Amino acid sequence: MNEKEIWQSALAQIKLLISPANFNTWFKNTEILEIQNDKVLLSVPNSFVKEWFQQKYHQMILKIIRSLNPQIKEIEYVIGKNSFSLLKKQIRKIYVSSDSLLNFETDEKTGLNPRYTFSNFVVGSFNELAFAASQAIIEAPGKIYNPLFVYGGVGLGKTHLLQAIGNYLYKVKKLNVIYFQANKLIEEIINAVKNNTIEEFKRTFKNVDVLILDDVQFLSGKEKTQEEFFFIFNYLYEKNRQIVLSSDRPPKIIPSLAERLKSRFEGGMIADISTPDYESRMAILKLKAQERNINFPEEVLNYIASNIKNNIRELEGALNILTTFYKLQKQEITLETAKKLLKTIISPTPKISTFKKILKIVSEFYDVKEEDILSNVRRKEILKPRHIIMYLLRTELNYSYPAIAQKFGGKDHTTVIHACEKIKKELLKNEELAEEINQLKIKIFEKEKI
Ligand code: ADP
Ligand code: MG
Repeated sequence: MNEKEIWQSALAQIKLLISPANFNTWFKNTEILEIQNDKVLLSVPNSFVKEWFQQKYHQMILKIIRSLNPQIKEIEYVIGKNSFSLLKKQIRKIYVSSDSLLNFETDEKTGLNPRYTFSNFVVGSFNELAFAASQAIIEAPGKIYNPLFVYGGVGLGKTHLLQAIGNYLYKVKKLNVIYFQANKLIEEIINAVKNNTIEEFKRTFKNVDVLILDDVQFLSGKEKTQEEFFFIFNYLYEKNRQIVLSSDRPPKIIPSLAERLKSRFEGGMIADISTPDYESRMAILKLKAQERNINFPEEVLNYIASNIKNNIRELEGALNILTTFYKLQKQEITLETAKKLLKTIISPTPKISTFKKILKIVSEFYDVKEEDILSNVRRKEILKPRHIIMYLLRTELNYSYPAIAQKFGGKDHTTVIHACEKIKKELLKNEELAEEINQLKIKIFEKEKI
């Protein structure tokens, strides 16, 4: 039985035990909000009823509910429907992504979502290079920077910027724009190969003026797709059609990407997006609040901006939680409420990381198996990530050398010292490695998702 059914059959029994007048007076507008393990949250219309229930009817209600569900041990009377925990649950249900609060649909033909524009893109020192490049491109597509390659961590606005370029060129310049998530392109190419329609698929790019491919790091290791994409890229490039790409890292350090693609990706303009400074975070929050038509107190926005620093999607997520609360409760959001509601995403505990997490992140990053890293395999492509893990454990988690050795099946700890020293020395002269380790650290210390 669900909450509703339990309460309905309880009411049916209660009706037989008390007078109709009492039943109508006290049990109107009551319902079970939620069952939390052995506790029932029973919603009552006001404090008067709550007191009455506690004093007069509690034993009766408990007994009846227990006869329907023996696990129940407790009843909590909640005035109205706003138990805090329930609200939080509701909020989490409603809030999936910002898209659910701002209703926009992706255009099927272009793959573009009209919600991403330049007018709602905040520019600060963290993204101004990428922004400037995008402005040059929309002025003269295909003529200046080709391709434009934008890279940066998760949730920092790559997709937004790429889509804004696309939307502008599509709507204002009336160009034939096509936007793809790399994963989608991979899927389409695989299907086309399977169905023997790859030539046909490639021909669909013939009239494309602007090709936007998001998250190209996913091409890593996909040889067949890379081959076909190389062909499409060259075709468009030679005809001076604009190509815009994004990735979570610079082309140089995308693993298992064909050299010829790497050099194509590097052939135009490369611009990074880093993490936003405080001013930019506040500007973003203000803009998003405005989009949602809500005035949040300055101190609430300040609280969010001071605590969420590395990810614009999370900034927006925090705002979405508060927005949803506001819409459900029609109640001003105070700093107190904000703190309570955002507890799960803004935790006071600093960076937590573990050996397991580092192992997972590094092996995914270099596209090698965890068990190979932990084994005695001495291939070059395994040695490097293995050494990097040792180095990170030492520098980021303060592991002792013997403790690291133990994690790697009891190797001699001088091997570990040697590995760490090697990486340290290499870092001084190898810019690529420095960049890779930077990216890894960002991934390692990214906040856990809710
Ligand atoms: P990425 O593709 O880098 O993971 P997104 O482009 O999806 O990040 O951005 C995540 C969210 O943050 C989106 O809702 C986007 O609209 C918002 N966002 C990112 N950068 C900005 C910005 N500079 N100004 C306004 N909103 C931004
Ligand atoms: Mg993206």
